[in-house]
Amino acid sequence: MIEEHPVIGAPRHCPGRLHSSSFTREILDGIDPRVIVCEYRSRRYFAPSGKVVKETPLPPGNVFQVQRDEFDRELARQAARAGAEIVLNTRVTGLYKEKGLIRGVTTTSADMPVVHARVVIDASGTKGRLSGIPREEGLTMPGETAFGGILVELVGIHDLEPGIIETYLGETFEIGIGVLWTKNQYSGLMGFRSMKGYHKLLSSDSFVGRKFKDARPIQIFGNMVGSAAGIKLEKPVKPNLILAGDAAGFTSITHGIVSGRHAGEVAAVAVRESDTSETSLLRYVEKCRESGLYKVTLSWSPRLVSLQGHSDAEIEALIPEMLAHNELHYGDVWDF
Ligand SMILES: Cc1cc2nc3c(=O)[nH]c(=O)nc-3n(C[C@H](O)[C@H](O)[C@H](O)COP(=O)(O)OP(=O)(O)OC[C@H]3O[C@@H](n4cnc5c(N)ncnc54)[C@H](O)[C@@H]3O)c2cc1C
Repeated sequence: MIEEHPVIGAPRHCPGRLHSSSFTREILDGIDPRVIVCEYRSRRYFAPSGKVVKETPLPPGNVFQVQRDEFDRELARQAARAGAEIVLNTRVTGLYKEKGLIRGVTTTSADMPVVHARVVIDASGTKGRLSGIPREEGLTMPGETAFGGILVELVGIHDLEPGIIETYLGETFEIGIGVLWTKNQYSGLMGFRSMKGYHKLLSSDSFVGRKFKDARPIQIFGNMVGSAAGIKLEKPVKPNLILAGDAAGFTSITHGIVSGRHAGEVAAVAVRESDTSETSLLRYVEKCRESGLYKVTLSWSPRLVSLQGHSDAEIEALIPEMLAHNELHYGDVWDF
């Protein structure tokens, strides 16, 4: 495993909601329980006025918040215990090829400028998908771009209930909707498109602005969301190469883990049988289909995204219709 940063899991870029799936329990069972921040029991939706317009209970034992950076280090500990060699502070600069065939990767390390491999598994995330090996090898879709954002941990938010994810609708938010990943009765994590959006919330006179008026930032993380996030590549393999996680469009913590596991298993068999051809590695795609990874799509109702640019009064007027058509819906439970 080659990681460009000196620490696994840092910089952190996501709030760490571990959503429901048939793999979630098993993933958590193998992990130090101290990385679990809380279990969520429901999602509460607030109109711009502050009125609760919907509450969706979440099945017990299904949706959690994990301390994402420490969670990633836990996965790395599991990998190390299982025999993986982990190299930090080393950037992969590209594929190493012999006579046009992938034979490993090149790196920034003076000690190991080339790492030979019979199968390369690229799990370089959104950044990799946009500008790294997946794009260079022509595996991505044309026109893919990305937009940046920030995630802020805030302390001193009023009237929070542990275990409840709060979802606010209204013009206070750059995209018409804001989600607070509650940690406890006074703090949580919230994503913004920009610092401008963050300052707008704290200075707003709206219901949600009053709720956050005494909130103070504890951490700010940058992030990047790909325009094709969650859009799975139909063929994320080439001879001697497999893409996993965000690089392949298997977006989310659980999708990343499950696809990475399939990639490792398929690569191990291919190496053992001395057949790392595309046909052999396509077993990875089959495994991803069998476990349901290809079935899961967008987690939000597209209607939520369309609230961007509407005034509070317009959003209030749209809510009854959205409720009637089940369009006030953020997907926390993804069965796959
Ligand atoms: C704002 C935001 C919120 C999110 N919220 C959630 C959520 O609540 N729940 C959820 O399940 N998912 C969430 N996601 C999605 C989730 O974070 C990703 O799907 C998941 O992290 C993908 O894992 P990955 O291992 O494929 O990629 P990443 O987590 O991006 O990991 C890629 C790794 O590769 C390293 N790397 C990249 N290029 C190189 C290189 N050239 N050389 C060496 N190392 C390299 C990086 O440093 C990084 O450590 C969110 C994403 C964003 C952006």
